[in-house]
Amino acid sequence: MSELFRAAKAATMIPGAPVIDDAAIIASQGIITGIGTYGDLAPTFSGTVTDLGDVTIAPGLINAHSHLELAHLRGQCPTGQGFVTWVEDLLARPIHDLDPDLLDQALRELKRTGTVMVGDIATRFAKEMAGSLEASGLFFVVFAEAIGEAVPKRSFIPGGEYSAGVMSVAGHALYTTHVRVLRAAKAEAVQRGLPFSLHLSEHDDEVAIMAGEPSGFLDLLRGRGRLLDFVAPQKRPVQHAAELGLLDETTLAVHCVKVTDEDIETVRRSGATVCLCPRSNEYIGRDRAPWEKWVASGTPLCLGTDSLASNHDLDLYAETTWFAERYEGRLSLTDLLAMITRTPARILGAQARLGTLEPGKTAVFSTVPDGLIDLLGD
Ligand SMILES: [Zn+2]
Repeated sequence: MSELFRAAKAATMIPGAPVIDDAAIIASQGIITGIGTYGDLAPTFSGTVTDLGDVTIAPGLINAHSHLELAHLRGQCPTGQGFVTWVEDLLARPIHDLDPDLLDQALRELKRTGTVMVGDIATRFAKEMAGSLEASGLFFVVFAEAIGEAVPKRSFIPGGEYSAGVMSVAGHALYTTHVRVLRAAKAEAVQRGLPFSLHLSEHDDEVAIMAGEPSGFLDLLRGRGRLLDFVAPQKRPVQHAAELGLLDETTLAVHCVKVTDEDIETVRRSGATVCLCPRSNEYIGRDRAPWEKWVASGTPLCLGTDSLASNHDLDLYAETTWFAERYEGRLSLTDLLAMITRTPARILGAQARLGTLEPGKTAVFSTVPDGLIDLLGD
């Protein structure tokens, strides 16, 4: 049975394609079979017609960075006091006590707010998260996170077959995950043709730790028996990541807040994609990445909510609106939507079924909030 969806406008996110006015999408068995104007498609269509009204539709959204394992910490962690205070608080909480009801609530929130896929970091419960995501109907990459260990595992990527996603591996950060482990994890992802993710240059303490300078965060970690054999490379995080071979076309570098012009150019040249997490950086440290420089550089960019330990919700359109309100300069609706549709689809390996509205892709779409459209003046 075919269905036709009519909307005032459709941003297909096919590169170069204009927004379609009085748009129609035809779907059959969950797959898009046609897209164009209502006037062109309706006369030959037979099936159910749903008129969505005076809205702009866009592809289903992709949240490139979340930690659903922390869904039970919504609204509990301190805000605006910096990374060290935030982590200290986090480590004192029952971070490994998953709450199935709150996880379910988070998954439903994602779906309700237009998200169809997540790139999720799982520190301890990768299989549980993949199972929950599969059951929820969301598409996913679950990155099993390497953190703390000094010796590489034989394999970092848990087994398991899923219809809606894959498992891969992420390194936590350059200072919390041993260099040998990071390289082995990246090598396994490359060998299996999977994306790799890494938190990179998130806060000042990371820069200080890598430079070998005094850091309250390093003191905290050492006080807990961590990083006792850590040797500072005396380099900026981005430069060190590049030299370790961690940055390439299949790497998703997350945060990239503390970066110089040279760092931005290094990332751009590497082909890596950057995931900005604007509200998380604000929540933890009243901080932000040089968004305008990232956009100007041409580096592929995504947006992520990060976890509910550092964000108020998982609403990606709320994230995008918040970002657009504070962005200094002009952004088009297409530029913004690319960060939450086409670009994350590509880096997460889902471009065959998500990221644009075109025949052959999954018939899932989102409704662009009026507030976002008004803000851009499009
Ligand atoms: Zn994160």
